[in-house]
Amino acid sequence: MIELKGKEYQQKYMPILKDKISKLDKQLGLAVIQVGNDEASNVYVKQKEKKALELGYKFVHKVFEEDVDNETVINYINELNNDDSIDGIIVQMPLPEQLDAALIQNSVNPLKDVDGLSYTNGGKLEQNHPSLIPCTPKGIMALLDEYNIDVEGKNVTVVGRSILVGKPTALLFTNRNATVTLCHSKTKDVKEHTKNADIVVVAVGIAGFLTEDMVKDGAVVVDVGISRIDGKLYGDVDFENVSKKVSYITPVPGGVGPMTVYELMNNVYEAYLLRNNL
Ligand code: NAP
Repeated sequence: MIELKGKEYQQKYMPILKDKISKLDKQLGLAVIQVGNDEASNVYVKQKEKKALELGYKFVHKVFEEDVDNETVINYINELNNDDSIDGIIVQMPLPEQLDAALIQNSVNPLKDVDGLSYTNGGKLEQNHPSLIPCTPKGIMALLDEYNIDVEGKNVTVVGRSILVGKPTALLFTNRNATVTLCHSKTKDVKEHTKNADIVVVAVGIAGFLTEDMVKDGAVVVDVGISRIDGKLYGDVDFENVSKKVSYITPVPGGVGPMTVYELMNNVYEAYLLRNNL
């Protein structure tokens, strides 16, 4: 069994990205919009800020009060859309219920939409056109590529169909000529779809969801889930038992998480290139 180490990937590729950025005649900028004081969001924003500053990006962190309205957030997004010093904009999820997440997400200029969540970028991904791709799915593919795991013709089962992870992951595998099954909470028997898959990606948010009886010998398992229980991080995979059976597996922490952060930084660079037709 080989661990797919996203942390090592990040350490290897961040200096290469930094080098490419240093050749630009402009400082790149990333803006993060947060609403309220969600504890997990605070941790994620801190990680993003740390990496952005390491790369020399301008970093703007705007925090709105929990009871902010759509118009106030969208007006601010429009300011960022028109600000040439900002190349990437992300709206930290989750948002409080009074806000219309899709409306807000789609107010971001698609050329600055470094989370890849706008209808424009989603549509381009579906049609396999160059676009800003959601960071976690993009990171999953990059990590498999790094370990020379070929996906063409493979049977891939993705568990979870969020617009952030599951669906774009299924599209990326489809675009790379894999045969994809997408499971969700209404799937009658998830095991039926995972136990013969060559590659299983789990993004449900339930600690230890994927057990050893659900995977075949030699499978590749990608664990996206992050659950915090008593201050400790757990993935969606029963790592101890599943890892004994598979050929490759991502650990939690140190697997997909660092890939997501890396790809966000990479997307800021790619957004700059796209927006300037470079
Ligand atoms: P989400 O929006 O809550 O989606 C969860 C998905 O899992 C949904 O599609 C849901 O089905 C499905 N699901 C829930 N229970 C299930 C069950 N018993 N059987 C089969 N499917 C089930 O979550 P997300 O944003 O995709 O995130 C998933 C997990 O990944 C979370 O733990 C999150 O913290 C983590 N995450 C990690 C990273 C990283 O960088 N490592 C990045 C993003 C997210 P329905 O659609 O039917 O409700």
